[in-house]
Amino acid sequence: MADQEQTGRRIQVANARPEDAGRGLARLPLAVMAQLQLSEGDVIEIVGKRNTPARVVRPYKEDEGLDVLRLDGLQRANAGVGSGDFVQISKAEPRAAQRVVFAPAQNNLRLQGNPEALKRVFFQRPLAAGDVVATAGQQQVPPGDMPPQLRQMLAAPAYALQEIRLVVVSTTPKGIVHIDADTEVELRAEYEEPRESRRADVTYDDVGGMAETIDQLREMVELPLRYPELFERLGVDPPKGVLLHGPPGTGKTRLARAVANESEAEFFLINGPEIMGSAYGESEKKLREIFEEAAKAAPSILFIDEIDSIAPKRGNVTGETEKRLVAQLLTLMDGLEPRTNLVVIAATNRPEAIDEALRRPGRFDREIVVGVPDERGRREILGIHTRGMPLGDRVDLTELARMTYGFVGADLAALTREAAIEAVRRFMPRLNLEEGTIPADVLEELSVTREDFMSAIKR
Ligand code: ADP
Repeated sequence: MADQEQTGRRIQVANARPEDAGRGLARLPLAVMAQLQLSEGDVIEIVGKRNTPARVVRPYKEDEGLDVLRLDGLQRANAGVGSGDFVQISKAEPRAAQRVVFAPAQNNLRLQGNPEALKRVFFQRPLAAGDVVATAGQQQVPPGDMPPQLRQMLAAPAYALQEIRLVVVSTTPKGIVHIDADTEVELRAEYEEPRESRRADVTYDDVGGMAETIDQLREMVELPLRYPELFERLGVDPPKGVLLHGPPGTGKTRLARAVANESEAEFFLINGPEIMGSAYGESEKKLREIFEEAAKAAPSILFIDEIDSIAPKRGNVTGETEKRLVAQLLTLMDGLEPRTNLVVIAATNRPEAIDEALRRPGRFDREIVVGVPDERGRREILGIHTRGMPLGDRVDLTELARMTYGFVGADLAALTREAAIEAVRRFMPRLNLEEGTIPADVLEELSVTREDFMSAIKR
């Protein structure tokens, strides 16, 4: 049996880097590629709780020697796995599709489809019904000896000014297919609920410059939520409360949401200032109710934004409401059973301003600093917010990252939005607004240029 060709294999899943997100790639160790007789550009089927196809590419340099398969957040959702889980992979031969039907996976989006443009975006991409895919990833085509279909796929044009997520509603034939020149592509206007609607929303791919923070949170929050039995077996109590501190706009809320989605947990949000200021006794009642609701829906993450406003140092406050709210919060935290499978994540800009009692063991006893991003972080965040954006040749995100010292994630997101608006302004005269659709040739030329970014920075 020794020389029998191996056709499938088990492998552990890990997160891809944000710049890979939305491209449908599977980064595999060279040794595994050799073992399964795969070349770069081949297609594999990934089997977790569900199946999804991906195109094989070489591993990141620093992964050499590691036995992991890197997938992005959408692919992990498509395969029904989280990072750390094992999947079975095997070589697949996609068939040319006669027909593929897409629908928007975001219910805030009505699409007036240009199926031809969509066809170009997903040209040669392996697809299967039920998958959620994104119109992203046309940047940074790696040079070198890459098979033409892979090169084409990575260089796919953008579809709109921002990334759009779509559900593959059906394919003919069924199974793993790819779109070629003869495929008929239909885009439905109505929203189609994805199988994992949460993970079609925000994942770790969507928070930039936070690789280490994500690792810490995965250990502290995601693993206990996903594998409660494991922690119970080992006799360790997972943390009940984690305190994130950092300036506003650094991505704390987005990060908490991503952790919830990746943990397949429900997400509840309490906004500190909002819960204050209700009538006598109302604030505590609201707090109790949300805790109850979150416990009932467990596994869940309860996120308390601006916790300093509801739990200031009791010595410093004169208001009765604050005093009672702090006391209520302490009671609720102490009342949480480890097996409730609920983690409370609180965010603050001023950790020194919150009541010390909250930071005692069994309450918010873990702390993670979410800092202002450095240049690399800014580069990654810019990559995230320009995903799916058609960028002009001279746009250099590294240069933009260098120029935006002091910007936090929210500032960088605003900057890319501004730049896109600049581009739309330039194109306005060429649009026939009465027609309601953008002619394909105009859409093709629409791109956000270096000048658009420069004007946006000046604002
Ligand atoms: P915070 O909770 O720290 O105030 P948010 O998570 O509300 O910050 O961030 C606001 C917006 O700014 C996000 O929706 C996102 O568009 C953008 N943003 C902030 N930080 C990041 C980040 N690290 N990566 C990507 N986007 C970010």
